Amino acid sequence: MDLNLKGHVALITGSTSGIGHAMATALAAEGVNIVLNGLGDPATIEQVRADIAKTHGVQVLYHGADMTRPAEIADMVAYAAKELGRLDILLNNAGIQHVAPIEDFPIDQWDKIIAINMSSAFHGTRAAIPIMKAQKRGRIVNLASAHALVASPFKAAYVAAKHGVAGLTKTAALELATFGVTCNAICPGYVMTPLVEAQIADQAKSRNMTPEEVMKNVILAAQPTKEFVTFDQLAGLLLYLVSDAGASTNGAILSVDGGWTSA
Ligand code: NAD
Repeated sequence: MDLNLKGHVALITGSTSGIGHAMATALAAEGVNIVLNGLGDPATIEQVRADIAKTHGVQVLYHGADMTRPAEIADMVAYAAKELGRLDILLNNAGIQHVAPIEDFPIDQWDKIIAINMSSAFHGTRAAIPIMKAQKRGRIVNLASAHALVASPFKAAYVAAKHGVAGLTKTAALELATFGVTCNAICPGYVMTPLVEAQIADQAKSRNMTPEEVMKNVILAAQPTKEFVTFDQLAGLLLYLVSDAGASTNGAILSVDGGWTSA
């Protein structure tokens, strides 16, 4: 099925790694020009940028905006539209995690998680809206989490931020509905990425378990399928949302969690 995405422009925050990198690659495979963003070693990022561009024959740029800095986020959105001529897709994906009981939760980690996992989606959306309204078409997708719908212990900042993203998603959807712009949230269960690998180590510490016990009894215990969600499964939903077929799906908080949040 031709999704008619050739020549579209997507900005994906936190796309130097994990889900963001996989979604950037899936969009590039459909002919979408890409702006990558994220932290990391400059040579590795350049390799990632060049690989996607060469493999898929699309333009791939990189902007190093720090998701804790609103002015840099606005600059990145303007950069995408200026350098690539338009902005069709904004995927607010950057995210971090810190696992600790609330009474011991480091205040700087709370502030950082709220900034990166929630406020950055507001700043990106705020900057993208005038561009998308002027185009009379746009797709904003927030990479939320099952933790936008349910909680887990020791993840206060992450759960609060992701619930906030769900609220932002619904509000943007209502404000943008008559402008050809949609806003939806994808809520994965566990996907094996560096973020989850780090959590296995952190959870092992706070729960006094081995990493294997955390994987079996904590991480996949929540996921009824007992399997990690794959990048392809997330890409399938993302491609639907950003295509013409997704035009009436707006303000939806979409679970891709093997049934976790049905419990
Ligand atoms: P990851 O650690 O592999 O990637 C995170 C990306 O965010 C990286 O590119 C990193 O450089 C970037 N980033 C972090 N801080 C940044 C900052 N200050 N400025 C700019 N970029 C920054 O993680 P992932 O698992 O791919 O997570 C991606 C998104 O998916 C996150 O929002 C996460 O909460 C969400 N998510 C992940 C899972 C999972 O199981 N992996 C499940 C549900 C939701």
